[in-house]
Amino acid sequence: RQQEYRDLRDKPSVTRDGEAFHLHMNAGLLVDLPQLDESGAEGIGLFRTELQFMVADTFPRAEAQESLYRSVIEAAGPKPVIFRSLDIGGDKVLPYFRSAPHEENPALGWRAIRLSLDRPGLFRTQMRALLKASAGRELRVMLPMVTDIGEIEQARSIINREVQHLSRFGHGLPTRLHIGAMLEVPALLFDLDALMKAVDFVSIGSNDLFQFLTATDRGNPQIAARFEPLSRPFLRALKSVAEAAARNGVSLSLCGELAGKPLSAMALAAIGIRDLSMSAASIGPVKAALLATNLAELRAVIDTAIENDGIATDMQPVIREFADKH
Ligand code: PEP
Ligand code: MG
Repeated sequence: RQQEYRDLRDKPSVTRDGEAFHLHMNAGLLVDLPQLDESGAEGIGLFRTELQFMVADTFPRAEAQESLYRSVIEAAGPKPVIFRSLDIGGDKVLPYFRSAPHEENPALGWRAIRLSLDRPGLFRTQMRALLKASAGRELRVMLPMVTDIGEIEQARSIINREVQHLSRFGHGLPTRLHIGAMLEVPALLFDLDALMKAVDFVSIGSNDLFQFLTATDRGNPQIAARFEPLSRPFLRALKSVAEAAARNGVSLSLCGELAGKPLSAMALAAIGIRDLSMSAASIGPVKAALLATNLAELRAVIDTAIENDGIATDMQPVIREFADKH
């Protein structure tokens, strides 16, 4: 199997019926980087910057942040990297972060972009480190847990101020800055066109989006398998995002666990999400599945299934049957 996946590495990423797809890898530490070439990923679709903070005993200094980002960019070479701004809080705790409040519901609490906007010193330092490390290259920054598009504007204005500051002091700057948002909070599903107009790209964080849509704690094993992501409500939601992205010409990806499961990846590609970011180990199996899929046929099957308002909401059997047959 391993050898088989390695052989796939250099095959063009095109489905059986000729639709292109793009597989990226998730990473968070420098040790992940060698897998970028080994897996054949087109780039890093999610770099979790909070990992550097989670393995440290104290807040990493600006220099340490810049140095990590520089090493990642150098290791990635021509492949694009999407840096997610700090996603602390919720399930990602920093023991040394003393001013973090005790929270009854940390998943719904002071986390991610909320924390960054309330502690602009922290956010500014990180953005400055990213801007400096990306001098002469394109920089992609992704904001986690956006709930309200006003948060994107606030973040953008902080970033723009940093750009001006660096330029005033004669620092090199990125050749281009792309600012994107993660779609993880269901409220954004009802503001999709405004979201698309506010960003350069969107990436669906299916772990959190599914957790919040189904009110199911992602870290609780007792309920982990209770609801199926390949279900009518969730697929309808994801399809509406794909349609809004296409309508607005915004690039869309999905970077949660769902992207790394072959059957789910097929379903996602069929409903219009053809850019997927996953753990390096999943790239081979997902690529094998997508190469073998006639996307138009699967799309017809899924569209029929999700338009039908029957009692069964689990779409997995239909998709599995299609996969088995082909
Ligand atoms: C997600 O929520 O799907 C995601 C990719 O982010 P994380 O798992 O880091 O919360
Ligand atoms: Mg998330």
